[in-house]
Amino acid sequence: MKINEIFGSMVFSESVMRQRLPDEVFRELHRVLEKGGRISLKTADVVAKSMMDWAVEQGATHYTHWFQPLTGITAEKHDSFLGCPREGKSILRLTGRQLIMGEPDASSFPTGGLRATHYARGYTAWDITSPAFIKEMSAGKILCIPTIFVAYTGESLDNKTPLLHSMEALSAQALRIVRLFGNAAARKVTPFVGPEQEYFIVDKERYLQRRDLIYTGRTLFGAPAPKGQELEDQYFGVIRERIGAFMRDLNLELWKLGIPATTQHNEVAPGQHELAPIYATCNVAVDQNQLTMETMKRIANRHGLVCLLHEKPFAGVNGSGKHNNWSISTDTGENLLDPGETPNENLQFLLVLACIMQAVDEHADLLRNAAANVGNDERLGADEAPPAIISIFLGSQLEDLVEQICEHGSAEASIGADWLDAGLSTLPVILKDATDRNRTSPFAFTGNKFEFRAVDSSDSIAAVNTVLNTIVADAFARAAEELEGAKDFSRALSAWIARTMREHRRIIFNGDGYSSAWVEEAARRGLPNLPSMVDAIPVLTRDENVALFEHYRVFTRTELESRSEVLYETYTKMKTIEARTMVHMTGKHYVPAVIHFISRMSDSVNKTVAAAPGTDVSVQRDLIARASALLALAYREEQALNSEVERLNGMDDPARMARHCQTALVPRMKALRAAVDALELMVDKALWPVPTYGDLMFEV
Ligand code: ADP
Ligand code: MG
Repeated sequence: MKINEIFGSMVFSESVMRQRLPDEVFRELHRVLEKGGRISLKTADVVAKSMMDWAVEQGATHYTHWFQPLTGITAEKHDSFLGCPREGKSILRLTGRQLIMGEPDASSFPTGGLRATHYARGYTAWDITSPAFIKEMSAGKILCIPTIFVAYTGESLDNKTPLLHSMEALSAQALRIVRLFGNAAARKVTPFVGPEQEYFIVDKERYLQRRDLIYTGRTLFGAPAPKGQELEDQYFGVIRERIGAFMRDLNLELWKLGIPATTQHNEVAPGQHELAPIYATCNVAVDQNQLTMETMKRIANRHGLVCLLHEKPFAGVNGSGKHNNWSISTDTGENLLDPGETPNENLQFLLVLACIMQAVDEHADLLRNAAANVGNDERLGADEAPPAIISIFLGSQLEDLVEQICEHGSAEASIGADWLDAGLSTLPVILKDATDRNRTSPFAFTGNKFEFRAVDSSDSIAAVNTVLNTIVADAFARAAEELEGAKDFSRALSAWIARTMREHRRIIFNGDGYSSAWVEEAARRGLPNLPSMVDAIPVLTRDENVALFEHYRVFTRTELESRSEVLYETYTKMKTIEARTMVHMTGKHYVPAVIHFISRMSDSVNKTVAAAPGTDVSVQRDLIARASALLALAYREEQALNSEVERLNGMDDPARMARHCQTALVPRMKALRAAVDALELMVDKALWPVPTYGDLMFEV
């Protein structure tokens, strides 16, 4: 196996197209790829034929339009290449029309009231900027054609369409900025993204014994194991053999798909790991992250394992997130987020930095919303993940610059990189980064990119990047508006940078984001604090946000309304499933097990006393009494939870239903769990009906 031969072997990449397509067809495609626009149906026919021939050579039997509906996962419907058989022989077929457009019966995807089921029409359309690829699964090898997904009426029904619009907006506005500084050569500005993906691995047999993991992806019960993550011996620890074999296989599959998986290590919690790819163009990174998550699950299964992508599979130890590393570069290769050696003199960088400060400060609510999902509510703000308050960490070098500019209007000098000398004669002296890291910040500058760390581990990264691209595009547009016509550009520029930094300085926070002092300080600064997903949903339809998205043609008001409805519904559905699962497990597993335990104990007391009257059986009696009391409590809580779930039947407003789940279901779920977890610590391990935290996290 040679890594360079495997890499990309299952991708219909630009170089494969160059080899296989007639020159003029490739040129047309290439032009559209570079500059945008549409290809003709004639060209599409040629591309489709060539794509199919290539796929069949690799052993593919079917093709599918591969898209990203609002479920957060990808959707596909396989069709074989078989055409109408003639004289017992089949002709293989993939036409240009089949390549560029599909019409799945889409009434069963979430639409947030956008389409009544009797208007079920939805279209998928080829996204020429994402390469087609072949997925190998038990159903065979399937040619996947990345597409967008829109309704008959033109509204987007997926995560991809708005993302592509946001990228166009960013490019157009960023070009205005680089033009201000005399760059006439750049034709396009592209956001680049590298998502670090965290996940847990558990043994499949144990997983199958837990209904909560099966139905909700997380444990809803479970007393803490005697050991958690306190020794910090898991982070970067030696990778266990079984996990190593999984990682090896996973890398192979990802490489074939052209996904440059590169970093792998154990994460903080027992059973937790991370994978990071090399960054790619924003929309490609989004696709690749979806594929990565899907492939992780598939490959884990092959190894008798299950990959958990939930944000908080286990209480009491760290959960999983995604770090969305984001930068913007021109097609001439200039990263606009690179400060260079002397950032104080790099006025273009300072302008871009001021724009990002403005964007994040003005639209912290949208960023918070983009990172909202049901699982992330269990994680954000819990001393392991950034808080639900959005702020920016700049590091000492840039913070000092911002301070100088805010105080004096410009910056005289930058703190330079320093030498790090460990003081041992045989060790090299190394050049330190100009900034330290801050793990507690949701939005941190890391050298030549920003890292948004509040993102949830299980979701598509499309939403966060759509927001980032749009809000930064808007800040660029407003800067350009003011500076394009300036008589004295350099004076106007310095004044603009200083003014903007002063106005938005409150968004910078370099301290400990986990501390309660920060919550108070943020409130003083007037920064929004939206602790839960339900709090973050109304943000989408605020007038100023609707206006912003409509202006850049990213979302219409209708689309935003439908999306917030989908979010409310998702919250309610997920919480209801969780509650029902808890009721099920309590009734079917825990209550019977505890009754068994109590009756066995009672038998033993009776027998002991009969055999040897006067024996001290106070321990047994105490256990019986305590277990019985907890059992009664658990039973009451189960009933109460159940009736709160039932009350949803009388409601139909999505927002009210979600709120009910948040205020009535969630506290009851906690109370029920507390009772059952206390019982777990009391009852015989042999009688306990499900694998424990220790079994799940330490025995893979
Ligand atoms: P960390 O130290 O936080 O793990 P790394 O430097 O290893 O950070 O990078 C983490 C992720 O950021 C990787 O996916 C990497 O490819 C990506 N990345 C690096 N440079 C950039 C950039 N300029 N733009 C976007 N992503 C980047
Ligand atoms: Mg990181």
